[in-house]
Amino acid sequence: MLNKFRLLTPGPTPLPERVRLALARDMVHHRKKEFAAVMERVQERLRTLFGTQDTVLPLSCSGTGAMTAAVYSLFAPGQKVLVVEGGKFGQRWREIAVSRGLDVRSIDVPWGQAVQPQAVADALRDDPSLAGVLLQHSETSTGVLHPVREVAAVTRKSAALLLVDGISAVGLTPCPMDQWGIDCLLTGSQKGLMLPPGLALLALSPRAWERAEKQAPGCFYFNLPGEKAKLAQKQTLFTSPVNLIAGLDESLAVLLENGLDALYAKQWALTMLARTSLAAMGLKLFAQTDFAWGITSVLLPDGIDGREVLRLAAERHGVCLAGGQDHLKGRMVRVGHMGWVDWSDLLGGLYALNQSLKDVGGYCASRDYLEQGMAAYRAALQGQPGQALPPMLHS
Ligand SMILES: *Cc1c(COP(=O)(O)O)cnc(C)c1O
Repeated sequence: MLNKFRLLTPGPTPLPERVRLALARDMVHHRKKEFAAVMERVQERLRTLFGTQDTVLPLSCSGTGAMTAAVYSLFAPGQKVLVVEGGKFGQRWREIAVSRGLDVRSIDVPWGQAVQPQAVADALRDDPSLAGVLLQHSETSTGVLHPVREVAAVTRKSAALLLVDGISAVGLTPCPMDQWGIDCLLTGSQKGLMLPPGLALLALSPRAWERAEKQAPGCFYFNLPGEKAKLAQKQTLFTSPVNLIAGLDESLAVLLENGLDALYAKQWALTMLARTSLAAMGLKLFAQTDFAWGITSVLLPDGIDGREVLRLAAERHGVCLAGGQDHLKGRMVRVGHMGWVDWSDLLGGLYALNQSLKDVGGYCASRDYLEQGMAAYRAALQGQPGQALPPMLHS
Protein backbone atom coordinates (compact mmCIF):
# COMPACT_ATOMS: atom_id res chain seq x y z
CA MET A 1 0.00 0.00 0.00
CA LEU A 2 1.71 3.09 -1.27
CA ASN A 3 -1.08 5.61 -0.88
CA LYS A 4 -3.77 6.57 1.52
CA PHE A 5 -7.04 6.56 -0.31
CA ARG A 6 -8.61 10.02 -0.45
CA LEU A 7 -12.19 10.80 -1.35
CA LEU A 8 -12.44 14.19 -3.03
CA THR A 9 -15.94 13.63 -4.32
CA PRO A 10 -19.28 15.33 -3.75
CA GLY A 11 -20.19 12.68 -1.23
CA PRO A 12 -19.52 10.37 0.40
CA THR A 13 -16.67 12.21 2.03
CA PRO A 14 -13.90 11.26 4.47
CA LEU A 15 -14.94 11.17 8.13
CA PRO A 16 -13.17 12.58 11.19
CA GLU A 17 -11.87 9.95 13.59
CA ARG A 18 -14.16 11.27 16.33
CA VAL A 19 -17.13 10.59 14.12
CA ARG A 20 -15.96 7.11 13.13
CA LEU A 21 -15.47 6.16 16.76
CA ALA A 22 -18.94 7.42 17.62
CA LEU A 23 -20.39 5.36 14.78
CA ALA A 24 -18.72 2.25 16.14
CA ARG A 25 -20.38 2.43 19.56
CA ASP A 26 -22.79 -0.27 20.60
CA MET A 27 -26.54 0.26 20.40
CA VAL A 28 -28.56 2.29 22.82
CA HIS A 29 -32.30 1.87 22.69
CA HIS A 30 -34.11 4.47 20.62
CA ARG A 31 -37.05 4.71 23.06
CA LYS A 32 -34.95 5.09 26.23
CA LYS A 33 -33.56 8.12 27.99
CA GLU A 34 -29.90 7.69 26.92
CA PHE A 35 -30.95 8.21 23.34
CA ALA A 36 -33.29 11.09 24.21
CA ALA A 37 -30.33 13.03 25.64
CA VAL A 38 -28.44 12.64 22.34
CA MET A 39 -31.50 13.64 20.31
CA GLU A 40 -31.94 16.78 22.39
CA ARG A 41 -28.33 17.90 21.93
CA VAL A 42 -28.42 17.10 18.23
CA GLN A 43 -31.61 19.13 17.80
CA GLU A 44 -30.05 22.21 19.40
CA ARG A 45 -26.99 21.95 17.18
CA LEU A 46 -29.05 21.36 14.05
CA ARG A 47 -31.06 24.49 14.73
CA THR A 48 -27.83 26.46 14.86
CA LEU A 49 -26.58 24.91 11.63
CA PHE A 50 -29.88 25.46 9.76
CA GLY A 51 -30.39 28.92 11.26
CA THR A 52 -33.89 28.11 12.43
CA GLN A 53 -35.93 28.27 15.62
CA ASP A 54 -38.14 25.52 14.30
CA THR A 55 -37.70 21.75 14.34
CA VAL A 56 -35.10 20.01 12.17
CA LEU A 57 -36.34 16.49 11.52
CA PRO A 58 -33.98 13.54 11.10
CA LEU A 59 -35.25 11.10 8.46
CA SER A 60 -33.85 7.62 7.74
CA CYS A 61 -33.15 7.92 4.04
CA SER A 62 -30.69 9.48 1.62
CA GLY A 63 -31.08 13.09 0.55
CA THR A 64 -33.51 12.21 -2.22
CA GLY A 65 -35.81 10.75 0.42
CA ALA A 66 -36.02 14.16 2.08
CA MET A 67 -36.72 15.81 -1.29
CA THR A 68 -39.53 13.30 -1.78
CA ALA A 69 -40.87 13.82 1.74
CA ALA A 70 -40.97 17.59 1.17
CA VAL A 71 -42.82 17.42 -2.14
CA TYR A 72 -45.30 14.79 -0.93
CA SER A 73 -45.99 16.66 2.32
CA LEU A 74 -46.31 20.19 0.99
CA PHE A 75 -48.25 19.72 -2.25
CA ALA A 76 -51.30 17.80 -3.36
CA PRO A 77 -51.69 16.26 -6.82
CA GLY A 78 -52.76 18.87 -9.37
CA GLN A 79 -51.01 21.79 -7.70
CA LYS A 80 -48.61 23.80 -9.78
CA VAL A 81 -44.93 24.30 -8.93
CA LEU A 82 -41.94 25.97 -10.53
CA VAL A 83 -38.66 24.05 -10.78
CA VAL A 84 -35.29 25.66 -11.46
CA GLU A 85 -33.55 23.25 -13.82
CA GLY A 86 -29.90 23.84 -14.42
CA GLY A 87 -28.46 20.40 -13.79
CA LYS A 88 -29.02 16.84 -12.75
CA PHE A 89 -30.53 17.63 -9.37
CA GLY A 90 -32.90 20.26 -10.71
CA GLN A 91 -34.18 17.51 -12.99
CA ARG A 92 -34.64 15.33 -9.92
CA TRP A 93 -36.93 17.93 -8.34
CA ARG A 94 -39.02 17.82 -11.50
CA GLU A 95 -39.15 14.01 -11.55
CA ILE A 96 -40.27 13.89 -7.92
CA ALA A 97 -42.90 16.58 -8.51
CA VAL A 98 -44.19 14.70 -11.57
CA SER A 99 -44.40 11.48 -9.55
CA ARG A 100 -46.56 13.37 -7.05
CA GLY A 101 -48.90 14.37 -9.88
CA LEU A 102 -48.00 18.05 -9.76
CA ASP A 103 -48.30 20.40 -12.69
CA VAL A 104 -44.63 21.28 -13.21
CA ARG A 105 -43.33 24.45 -14.84
CA SER A 106 -39.59 24.94 -15.28
CA ILE A 107 -37.08 27.70 -15.59
CA ASP A 108 -34.36 26.20 -17.77
CA VAL A 109 -30.98 27.54 -16.80
CA PRO A 110 -27.93 26.70 -18.94
CA TRP A 111 -25.67 24.25 -17.10
CA GLY A 112 -22.92 26.23 -15.40
CA GLN A 113 -25.09 29.27 -14.72
CA ALA A 114 -27.24 30.34 -11.81
CA VAL A 115 -30.91 31.27 -12.01
CA GLN A 116 -31.81 34.96 -12.26
CA PRO A 117 -33.98 35.86 -9.25
CA GLN A 118 -35.92 38.16 -11.58
CA ALA A 119 -36.95 35.14 -13.67
CA VAL A 120 -38.53 33.62 -10.56
CA ALA A 121 -40.22 36.94 -9.74
CA ASP A 122 -41.60 37.19 -13.28
CA ALA A 123 -42.93 33.62 -13.22
CA LEU A 124 -44.68 34.17 -9.89
CA ARG A 125 -46.18 37.45 -11.07
CA ASP A 126 -47.44 35.89 -14.30
CA ASP A 127 -48.96 32.90 -12.55
CA PRO A 128 -50.15 33.46 -8.97
CA SER A 129 -51.40 29.87 -8.82
CA LEU A 130 -47.82 28.59 -8.44
CA ALA A 131 -47.74 26.89 -5.03
CA GLY A 132 -44.01 26.34 -4.78
CA VAL A 133 -40.55 27.07 -6.12
CA LEU A 134 -38.06 24.20 -6.03
CA LEU A 135 -34.35 24.67 -6.49
CA GLN A 136 -30.90 23.57 -5.38
CA HIS A 137 -28.70 25.79 -3.28
CA SER A 138 -25.61 24.16 -4.71
CA GLU A 139 -26.28 22.26 -7.97
CA THR A 140 -23.71 19.53 -7.48
CA SER A 141 -23.71 18.34 -11.09
CA THR A 142 -22.39 21.69 -12.33
CA GLY A 143 -20.80 23.26 -9.26
CA VAL A 144 -23.14 26.26 -9.41
CA LEU A 145 -24.46 28.11 -6.37
CA HIS A 146 -27.96 29.49 -6.93
CA PRO A 147 -28.82 32.85 -5.30
CA VAL A 148 -31.14 31.41 -2.66
CA ARG A 149 -31.20 34.55 -0.57
CA GLU A 150 -32.41 36.67 -3.49
CA VAL A 151 -34.94 34.05 -4.59
CA ALA A 152 -36.25 33.82 -1.03
CA ALA A 153 -36.69 37.59 -0.98
CA VAL A 154 -39.13 37.05 -3.88
CA THR A 155 -40.96 33.94 -2.64
CA ARG A 156 -41.48 35.17 0.92
CA LYS A 157 -43.64 37.99 -0.47
CA SER A 158 -45.70 35.49 -2.48
CA ALA A 159 -47.93 32.52 -1.68
CA ALA A 160 -45.38 30.09 -3.13
CA LEU A 161 -43.30 28.01 -0.75
CA LEU A 162 -39.54 27.91 -1.39
CA LEU A 163 -38.05 24.42 -1.20
CA VAL A 164 -34.26 24.37 -1.13
CA ASP A 165 -32.23 21.23 -1.77
CA GLY A 166 -29.23 22.06 0.40
CA ILE A 167 -27.70 18.59 0.16
CA SER A 168 -24.33 19.89 -0.99
CA ALA A 169 -24.67 23.26 0.74
CA VAL A 170 -25.63 22.80 4.39
CA GLY A 171 -22.49 22.90 6.51
CA LEU A 172 -20.56 24.31 3.55
CA THR A 173 -22.24 27.59 2.58
CA PRO A 174 -24.24 30.05 4.70
CA CYS A 175 -27.94 29.34 4.41
CA PRO A 176 -29.67 30.85 7.46
CA MET A 177 -33.15 29.55 6.86
CA ASP A 178 -35.27 31.83 9.08
CA GLN A 179 -33.34 34.98 8.25
CA TRP A 180 -33.59 34.42 4.51
CA GLY A 181 -37.17 33.15 4.57
CA ILE A 182 -36.69 29.64 3.20
CA ASP A 183 -39.76 27.41 3.63
CA CYS A 184 -38.05 24.06 3.41
CA LEU A 185 -34.34 23.37 3.77
CA LEU A 186 -33.04 19.83 3.59
CA THR A 187 -29.75 17.97 3.41
CA GLY A 188 -28.22 14.50 3.48
CA SER A 189 -25.58 13.09 5.79
CA GLN A 190 -22.79 12.18 3.36
CA LYS A 191 -21.72 15.62 2.12
CA GLY A 192 -21.10 18.65 4.32
CA LEU A 193 -21.99 16.77 7.48
CA MET A 194 -19.06 14.32 7.43
CA LEU A 195 -21.19 11.23 8.02
CA PRO A 196 -21.87 8.03 6.11
CA PRO A 197 -24.87 8.07 3.76
CA GLY A 198 -28.31 7.12 5.04
CA LEU A 199 -29.58 10.05 7.11
CA ALA A 200 -31.43 13.14 5.88
CA LEU A 201 -32.41 16.31 7.73
CA LEU A 202 -35.33 18.51 6.90
CA ALA A 203 -36.71 21.74 8.34
CA LEU A 204 -39.87 23.69 7.51
CA SER A 205 -40.94 27.29 8.09
CA PRO A 206 -44.10 28.04 10.09
CA ARG A 207 -46.15 28.57 6.93
CA ALA A 208 -44.84 25.33 5.43
CA TRP A 209 -45.80 23.49 8.63
CA GLU A 210 -49.28 24.97 8.30
CA ARG A 211 -49.50 23.55 4.79
CA ALA A 212 -48.16 20.14 5.84
CA GLU A 213 -50.57 19.92 8.76
CA LYS A 214 -53.57 20.79 6.60
CA GLN A 215 -53.15 17.90 4.19
CA ALA A 216 -52.92 14.15 4.71
CA PRO A 217 -49.32 12.87 4.41
CA GLY A 218 -48.56 11.77 0.85
CA CYS A 219 -47.35 8.39 2.04
CA PHE A 220 -47.21 6.35 5.23
CA TYR A 221 -43.47 6.54 5.94
CA PHE A 222 -42.86 10.26 5.40
CA ASN A 223 -45.33 11.73 7.84
CA LEU A 224 -43.73 15.05 8.71
CA PRO A 225 -46.31 16.33 11.22
CA GLY A 226 -46.16 12.90 12.88
CA GLU A 227 -42.36 13.08 13.02
CA LYS A 228 -42.51 16.56 14.49
CA ALA A 229 -44.87 15.47 17.24
CA LYS A 230 -42.66 12.47 18.00
CA LEU A 231 -39.53 14.61 18.08
CA ALA A 232 -41.09 16.59 20.93
CA GLN A 233 -40.59 13.34 22.88
CA LYS A 234 -37.03 13.14 21.48
CA GLN A 235 -37.88 10.16 19.34
CA THR A 236 -38.61 9.36 15.72
CA LEU A 237 -41.78 7.65 14.49
CA PHE A 238 -39.96 4.47 13.44
CA THR A 239 -36.70 2.92 14.65
CA SER A 240 -34.07 5.66 14.67
CA PRO A 241 -30.74 5.26 12.84
CA VAL A 242 -29.03 5.13 16.23
CA ASN A 243 -25.38 5.09 15.05
CA LEU A 244 -25.88 7.82 12.50
CA ILE A 245 -27.47 10.05 15.13
CA ALA A 246 -24.53 9.35 17.48
CA GLY A 247 -22.18 10.21 14.60
CA LEU A 248 -24.16 13.36 13.86
CA ASP A 249 -23.81 14.43 17.48
CA GLU A 250 -20.00 14.30 17.04
CA SER A 251 -19.87 15.77 13.55
CA LEU A 252 -21.99 18.74 14.61
CA ALA A 253 -19.66 19.27 17.55
CA VAL A 254 -16.72 19.36 15.11
CA LEU A 255 -18.51 21.61 12.62
CA LEU A 256 -19.63 24.11 15.25
CA GLU A 257 -16.43 24.01 17.30
CA ASN A 258 -15.23 27.43 16.18
CA GLY A 259 -18.55 28.87 15.11
CA LEU A 260 -20.34 29.01 11.77
CA ASP A 261 -18.31 31.92 10.45
CA ALA A 262 -15.07 29.97 10.84
CA LEU A 263 -16.64 26.94 9.17
CA TYR A 264 -17.74 28.91 6.11
CA ALA A 265 -14.49 30.87 5.95
CA LYS A 266 -12.62 27.57 5.72
CA GLN A 267 -14.90 26.32 2.95
CA TRP A 268 -14.51 29.57 1.08
CA ALA A 269 -10.72 29.40 1.39
CA LEU A 270 -10.68 25.81 0.11
CA THR A 271 -12.80 26.94 -2.82
CA MET A 272 -10.32 29.73 -3.59
CA LEU A 273 -7.49 27.21 -3.39
CA ALA A 274 -9.22 24.84 -5.83
CA ARG A 275 -10.31 27.50 -8.30
CA THR A 276 -7.00 29.33 -8.40
CA SER A 277 -4.99 26.17 -8.77
CA LEU A 278 -7.25 24.61 -11.42
CA ALA A 279 -7.25 27.82 -13.44
CA ALA A 280 -3.45 27.94 -13.19
CA MET A 281 -3.38 24.41 -14.59
CA GLY A 282 -5.07 25.83 -17.66
CA LEU A 283 -8.45 24.22 -17.03
CA LYS A 284 -11.73 26.02 -17.63
CA LEU A 285 -13.80 26.62 -14.51
CA PHE A 286 -17.32 25.49 -15.37
CA ALA A 287 -19.20 27.71 -12.91
CA GLN A 288 -17.75 31.10 -13.70
CA THR A 289 -19.41 33.54 -11.32
CA ASP A 290 -21.84 31.71 -9.04
CA PHE A 291 -19.90 28.77 -7.67
CA ALA A 292 -20.42 26.26 -4.89
CA TRP A 293 -18.19 26.11 -1.82
CA GLY A 294 -17.92 22.35 -1.55
CA ILE A 295 -17.16 21.32 -5.11
CA THR A 296 -15.29 22.82 -8.04
CA SER A 297 -16.00 21.68 -11.58
CA VAL A 298 -13.72 22.11 -14.58
CA LEU A 299 -13.94 21.27 -18.26
CA LEU A 300 -11.08 19.24 -19.71
CA PRO A 301 -9.30 20.25 -22.91
CA ASP A 302 -10.77 18.72 -26.09
CA GLY A 303 -9.44 15.28 -26.85
CA ILE A 304 -8.73 14.41 -23.22
CA ASP A 305 -10.63 11.40 -21.91
CA GLY A 306 -11.84 12.37 -18.47
CA ARG A 307 -12.57 8.79 -17.47
CA GLU A 308 -8.93 7.86 -18.05
CA VAL A 309 -7.79 10.88 -16.02
CA LEU A 310 -9.97 9.80 -13.10
CA ARG A 311 -8.74 6.23 -13.35
CA LEU A 312 -5.09 7.30 -13.19
CA ALA A 313 -5.70 9.70 -10.31
CA ALA A 314 -7.25 6.85 -8.33
CA GLU A 315 -4.83 4.07 -9.26
CA ARG A 316 -1.54 5.95 -9.26
CA HIS A 317 -2.22 8.53 -6.59
CA GLY A 318 -5.02 7.15 -4.44
CA VAL A 319 -7.27 10.12 -5.12
CA CYS A 320 -10.92 9.58 -6.00
CA LEU A 321 -12.37 12.51 -7.98
CA ALA A 322 -15.75 12.78 -9.68
CA GLY A 323 -16.45 13.11 -13.38
CA GLY A 324 -19.20 14.91 -15.26
CA GLN A 325 -22.77 13.67 -15.59
CA ASP A 326 -24.94 13.22 -18.69
CA HIS A 327 -23.53 15.14 -21.69
CA LEU A 328 -20.51 16.15 -19.58
CA LYS A 329 -19.40 12.55 -18.96
CA GLY A 330 -15.72 12.24 -19.79
CA ARG A 331 -15.41 15.99 -20.36
CA MET A 332 -15.56 17.30 -16.82
CA VAL A 333 -13.79 16.72 -13.54
CA ARG A 334 -15.44 17.68 -10.29
CA VAL A 335 -13.11 18.12 -7.35
CA GLY A 336 -14.92 17.72 -4.06
CA HIS A 337 -13.72 19.75 -1.07
CA MET A 338 -16.49 18.90 1.34
CA GLY A 339 -16.58 16.84 4.49
CA TRP A 340 -13.39 16.09 6.39
CA VAL A 341 -11.14 17.57 3.71
CA ASP A 342 -8.47 20.17 4.41
CA TRP A 343 -5.90 22.09 2.37
CA SER A 344 -3.44 19.23 2.41
CA ASP A 345 -5.93 16.69 1.05
CA LEU A 346 -6.91 19.18 -1.61
CA LEU A 347 -3.29 19.86 -2.63
CA GLY A 348 -2.78 16.12 -3.01
CA GLY A 349 -5.90 15.89 -5.14
CA LEU A 350 -4.87 18.77 -7.38
CA TYR A 351 -1.42 17.29 -7.82
CA ALA A 352 -2.93 13.90 -8.71
CA LEU A 353 -5.22 15.53 -11.24
CA ASN A 354 -2.39 17.47 -12.85
CA GLN A 355 -0.11 14.43 -13.08
CA SER A 356 -2.90 12.31 -14.52
CA LEU A 357 -3.69 14.98 -17.09
CA LYS A 358 -0.06 15.04 -18.17
CA ASP A 359 -0.03 11.25 -18.38
CA VAL A 360 -2.86 11.27 -20.89
CA GLY A 361 -1.21 13.99 -22.96
CA GLY A 362 -2.76 17.07 -21.40
CA TYR A 363 -0.67 20.00 -20.34
CA CYS A 364 -0.13 22.20 -17.39
CA ALA A 365 0.00 25.91 -18.03
CA SER A 366 2.05 26.78 -14.98
CA ARG A 367 4.57 25.05 -12.76
CA ASP A 368 3.51 26.75 -9.56
CA TYR A 369 -0.21 25.97 -9.70
CA LEU A 370 -0.09 24.59 -6.14
CA GLU A 371 1.71 27.63 -4.75
CA GLN A 372 -0.79 29.90 -6.47
CA GLY A 373 -3.62 27.92 -4.93
CA MET A 374 -2.08 28.12 -1.47
CA ALA A 375 -1.52 31.86 -1.79
CA ALA A 376 -5.21 32.28 -2.61
CA TYR A 377 -6.12 30.04 0.33
CA ARG A 378 -4.08 32.09 2.78
CA ALA A 379 -5.36 35.37 1.37
CA ALA A 380 -8.94 34.12 1.75
CA LEU A 381 -8.40 33.13 5.37
CA GLN A 382 -6.94 36.56 6.05
CA GLY A 383 -9.86 38.24 4.31
CA GLN A 384 -7.76 39.99 1.68
CA PRO A 385 -9.49 41.91 -1.12
CA GLY A 386 -10.31 39.75 -4.10
CA GLN A 387 -10.30 36.67 -1.94
CA ALA A 388 -12.43 37.81 1.01
CA LEU A 389 -15.78 36.17 1.76
CA PRO A 390 -18.54 37.60 -0.40
CA PRO A 391 -20.20 40.15 1.92
CA MET A 392 -23.73 39.30 0.74
CA LEU A 393 -23.27 35.79 2.03
CA HIS A 394 -21.42 36.61 5.18
CA SER A 395 -24.20 38.31 7.11
C1 LIG B 1 -26.02 14.29 -3.60
C2 LIG B 1 -27.15 15.16 -3.96
C3 LIG B 1 -28.46 14.68 -4.06
C4 LIG B 1 -28.79 13.23 -3.91
O1 LIG B 1 -28.66 12.80 -2.62
P1 LIG B 1 -28.77 11.25 -2.26
O2 LIG B 1 -28.28 11.25 -0.85
O3 LIG B 1 -27.89 10.51 -3.21
O4 LIG B 1 -30.19 10.86 -2.38
C5 LIG B 1 -29.47 15.58 -4.33
N1 LIG B 1 -29.21 16.88 -4.51
C6 LIG B 1 -27.97 17.37 -4.44
C7 LIG B 1 -27.75 18.84 -4.65
C8 LIG B 1 -26.90 16.54 -4.16
O5 LIG B 1 -25.65 17.04 -4.10
